[in-house]
Amino acid sequence: MKFPLTEQLIAEARRFDLRSACCHCFYWNAREQKCWHDWPDEGQRRYPIDAIDPVTGEKPTEVAFCKEFELR
Ligand code: SF4
Repeated sequence: MKFPLTEQLIAEARRFDLRSACCHCFYWNAREQKCWHDWPDEGQRRYPIDAIDPVTGEKPTEVAFCKEFELR
């Protein structure tokens, strides 16, 4: 699911140390840097939540939360 990346969400993610990215997920294959289920990167891999896109250099405007996320 995608949501607008608001300043409030960024502030709350920092305040509560939100762990919602692929690198925090049980299904993350760290060795191959990909999801065990081969889900596409819909912004879920980005961490911190407001990290600049390394390819475009742009600030993200949306955030994605994966329905299969399982905190390790
Ligand atoms: S299940 Fe979702 S959150 Fe977990 S590694 Fe795969 S894409 Fe990322």
